[in-house]
Amino acid sequence: MGCGAVLPVTNGPIHAYMQSSPACFAAFNSLLAAEYSSNNLLDAHRLTVDTWAVQHPGTQKDRRAVQSVGLHLARLMLQLTSPRPPRETNAVMLDFAQHKKTLRPLMVPVEFRVRAIDIAPFAGTSFHISKVREWAEATWLDWSDAHQYIRSWVTEYASLDVD
Ligand SMILES: [Zn+2]
Repeated sequence: MGCGAVLPVTNGPIHAYMQSSPACFAAFNSLLAAEYSSNNLLDAHRLTVDTWAVQHPGTQKDRRAVQSVGLHLARLMLQLTSPRPPRETNAVMLDFAQHKKTLRPLMVPVEFRVRAIDIAPFAGTSFHISKVREWAEATWLDWSDAHQYIRSWVTEYASLDVD
């Protein structure tokens, strides 16, 4: 399910409509825990959330899942291609959220080359930020079929110009 990581079955919580295995969700949570406990890692936090979300798009027959994946892809694009100060990023993202109903279902990549479980071993280390960035960039590339659509959606709905 989700990012396609083959993992041992463990008992644990999973997200309601982002399908993932409990072990993958645990890897995601270890990244979040490290980010919440260090100011230096907070910069990576948004990327971690958006990257994990677009690796677990759920079924594109579910409207919530469609809106979720579209919004997270738009946020990912913004951070990777035209980074802004946090306050501006927040403003653009709020604007995106208001238009999420216009998002359409997307073709989900068959496979992701880098997954949360590949990054989790670096949680809280000096490689944390660079590894999260590598994961985010690889994931954005895995979604290349959706780039054109997301780019035009962002251009239409971002109140600030996106290069
Ligand atoms: Zn996963």
